[in-house]
Amino acid sequence: MAGRSAKIFGRALISAFASLIDGLLRCGAEHPVKSIFNYIDGQFVRGRREFADVNPADGTVIAQVTEADQELVDNAVRSARKTLGGEWGNLGVRERAARLYRVADAIEARFDCFVQAEVADTGKPLALAAKLDIPRAAANFRAFADAIKTAGLESFETETADGKSALNYAMRKPLGVVGVITPWNLPLLLLTWKVAPALACGNTVVVKPSEETPATATLLAEAMQDAGIPRGVYNVVHGFGSNSAGEFLTQHPDVNAVTFTGESRTGAAIMKTVAASVKPVSFELGGKNAAIVFADCEFDEAVNGISEAVFLNTGQVCLCAERVYVERTLFDRFIEALKQKAESLRLGSPLDNTTDLGPLISAQHREKVLSYYRLATEEGATTVTGGGTPKFGNELDGGFYVQPTIYTGLRETARCVREEIFGPVCHVAPFDSEEEAVALANDTKYGLASGIGREGGIHSLNFYSELNNVCIRL
Ligand code: NAD
Repeated sequence: MAGRSAKIFGRALISAFASLIDGLLRCGAEHPVKSIFNYIDGQFVRGRREFADVNPADGTVIAQVTEADQELVDNAVRSARKTLGGEWGNLGVRERAARLYRVADAIEARFDCFVQAEVADTGKPLALAAKLDIPRAAANFRAFADAIKTAGLESFETETADGKSALNYAMRKPLGVVGVITPWNLPLLLLTWKVAPALACGNTVVVKPSEETPATATLLAEAMQDAGIPRGVYNVVHGFGSNSAGEFLTQHPDVNAVTFTGESRTGAAIMKTVAASVKPVSFELGGKNAAIVFADCEFDEAVNGISEAVFLNTGQVCLCAERVYVERTLFDRFIEALKQKAESLRLGSPLDNTTDLGPLISAQHREKVLSYYRLATEEGATTVTGGGTPKFGNELDGGFYVQPTIYTGLRETARCVREEIFGPVCHVAPFDSEEEAVALANDTKYGLASGIGREGGIHSLNFYSELNNVCIRL
């Protein structure tokens, strides 16, 4: 009977939260501003302070997010630690994997809600969120559930001192409580890219999503509840980086590992913080990726491919190409075609299915991108197209849009060629030989879409588990 009433209480909470998120998602002038809570120990928890969640498409406040202070972060870590030695820690791999499958099902059951929340937070076109972000989030849980069931480990035989032999085999153990810090460009996709393998390996997580895009991390808590994930396994603390939830989490002595995706500079700050307690880290960092186009390419395919590589998600993808090198004999023709392509992209409301590009994430980020647009001119660039902000004549003028932009004529030492801009912009330069093109592409301090640690498939499982060697005398 006690269990039954607890369940009914849980459902009431869920539906209260669902309607709260509904208010958020349909938020417009006629809707009041709603709240987004932390999720700690299976409960939606309010903090003492709040900050605004802004819709980048028109600059309006769509929700108030409740910030986690040190005490709430402590509570989240304590809850995550407790269940490691309890219900979650006692589940076998097969049952853990089954529940992760159910999380994927629960995401799909709320598909529209997730899509709308992601679109409201990021301003990305609805079609993109529906095709990429949310399906990939569900797929991450299924993929890592499958991977953990089949991931083999090494075994080998050794000779003992008395001339007999011993069998050695490796076993995976969870690391413990993992602190997960994520960015705003692909919020749920990148969050689940970390949470799914961490849970598959038997860890628990405390997640600090980007302050710009808090909604889907909290919505995921509902999916976790529906899937029967025990309380404490998945916790969400909202807030900022330095002197806020991000730093409280990374410096916490009871957090066993930190996984982070974001700017290289932030990675450096987190590295300093975790050094004090020597934790394993996995960092996916910034990039300044290059694309190379040879004269014998399939022309239309190359133009379309480069356009997507530069402008997808308004250029806010770590894999986006901001440097394009084109073989000199094709250069003029290619520039003209890429210009036409960029000018054909439709900027507009994320909810309009003819929109190709939404806004940048925030006023602050738009100012950063525009400062690079100004710098490009100062550094001597020729503007092929763009370089400014569009005018809509409606509420979208309150949003954080910039024009898709192409530059040529910069030296390789120019800051606009060397530093990550993270907007819908590229610099195109000619090359004469394959060797020169490869040397230009590799001449960057960022590495190519990399960081510290490797994520994906078995590499994720290796980060989120501790390998133990068991030695048995035969
Ligand atoms: P960011 O570094 O500003 O923020 C990322 C997260 O770190 C946020 O949640 C933020 O609150 C938190 N944070 C900031 N300071 C912190 C601190 N001192 N301690 C703990 N947490 C802190 O990055 P962003 O602007 O959200 O995202 C854009 C960046 O992410 C770009 O540089 C992009 O290249 C990079 N990125 C990389 C990949 C990849 O896979 N390599 C993928 C996506 C984005």
